[in-house]
Amino acid sequence: MAEEPDFDVIVIGAGVAGTVAAYQLASKGHSVVLIERGEAPGSKNLSGGILYTHSIKTVFPDFLETAPYERKIDKNRIVFTNPGSWVGVDYQDARLAQLGSAVSVLRAKLDAWLAEQAEGAGAMVMPGVRVDSLIKEGEQITGVVAGEDELRARVVIAADGVNSFIARDAGLRTKPRHEQQAVGVKAVIKLDPAVIEDRFNVDSEHGVAYALVGDCSLGVGGGGFLYTNKDTLSVGLVLRLDDLEKKKLRTVDIFDHYLEYPLVDSLVKGGELVEYGCHLVNEGGEAMMGQLVFPGLVIVGDAAGLTLNTGLTVRGMDLAIGSAIAASSAVSAALEKGDTSAAGLSGYTANLASSFVGQDMHTYNKAPAFLESAVGMYGDYGQLLADVLHGAFSLDGTPRQHMSKVARQALKKSPVKLMQLAKDGLKGLKAL
Ligand SMILES: Cc1cc2nc3c(=O)[nH]c(=O)nc-3n(C[C@H](O)[C@H](O)[C@H](O)COP(=O)(O)OP(=O)(O)OC[C@H]3O[C@@H](n4cnc5c(N)ncnc54)[C@H](O)[C@@H]3O)c2cc1C
Repeated sequence: MAEEPDFDVIVIGAGVAGTVAAYQLASKGHSVVLIERGEAPGSKNLSGGILYTHSIKTVFPDFLETAPYERKIDKNRIVFTNPGSWVGVDYQDARLAQLGSAVSVLRAKLDAWLAEQAEGAGAMVMPGVRVDSLIKEGEQITGVVAGEDELRARVVIAADGVNSFIARDAGLRTKPRHEQQAVGVKAVIKLDPAVIEDRFNVDSEHGVAYALVGDCSLGVGGGGFLYTNKDTLSVGLVLRLDDLEKKKLRTVDIFDHYLEYPLVDSLVKGGELVEYGCHLVNEGGEAMMGQLVFPGLVIVGDAAGLTLNTGLTVRGMDLAIGSAIAASSAVSAALEKGDTSAAGLSGYTANLASSFVGQDMHTYNKAPAFLESAVGMYGDYGQLLADVLHGAFSLDGTPRQHMSKVARQALKKSPVKLMQLAKDGLKGLKAL
């Protein structure tokens, strides 16, 4: 290396992945700078907002006592929406509440808290600075360029989120394909906590997560979410880019339709819009991960393609944190050995593969193809369910029929074919 580096590690991006990596490495005594283009950590970040806490609790065991989360989520509601009807499944479990296994979060608060922990551990936090490019000497990444400034380090961690221009511009990663990404749109709607607790039948500590599919997104692949925070609701959609394009629909129009959908409207009415934003979401699963270790550089979190959408849950934050843990332990070992070549940093690939991140990415590797092909989920299946239930509940004095006949009649009138339903059912069980 031509010049003595300024830091052991430069972390690009103070999202959940970057802040946790910076905290872990600074805690081990390495000199770390955490660079964030937003005015403050979290100011540019948008996420649906359910954090599965298992990975963050390995870094901060007292996370639930000290961190700024919103509510413990122990109720989940999955809803198939049709024009004029909807069918929901409720899942509530005291075991989830006890565990605090999922919490709703607002990123502006969470990321700021995580950055404070990194700073407390000795990392230098540099907000308001955009990294423009990487410095490469031979094959080795040796630093970053930000405006007029150059900073050098033994290792750079790219934690710059879903677009990851840094690694892409350096020719180290390719642009994701259209079908591997979705657009997420989210509003934060302010409501009196007493109204939230009354409307969602929860106490002041607990909350609900809704996942909605079907007409609420005008049948576009993906779906809606609605999460309760302390005094706000996080309400949004995740829409597959290729399906939006195919159906020639605009995100903004679908979002308006979503907010006006009667169930959603009944939950958000009277609220005040306090935040609104759009952000890309990875949808490609394991196929998006690619190479994550280069000489002097490792890639973590969304930048590494680590998001899992199973239709029931959208996970990215716990995976980003898991990848930061895997990367920081490998980077620390490489720094101690004085070998930050690709071989020296390869412990990250091994750590990731053996962690829950690598294993879950692999387990769900068929989920993206399933969610792309099972188009009935975004309309016809919900209508079929409603038609069967209509047969059971519409007591109008006409003679009743057994459910098997009601179901056969509903299937006959539906575009859904029994064989397709069976195939999707089987594929879904294997993929999800
Ligand atoms: C609508 C929506 C809903 C979602 N819902 C959920 C959910 O409920 N649960 C869940 O777990 N996940 C969810 N996700 C996914 C989750 O938000 C991401 O997986 C997670 O934020 C990834 O964390 P990260 O730290 O890798 O990236 P990010 O959180 O995106 O952080 C990247 C950081 O890098 C900074 N940065 C980027 N480029 C530069 C640069 N050149 N220089 C300096 N700084 C830079 C950015 O400003 C940002 O702060 C959702 C995503 C969206 C869009």
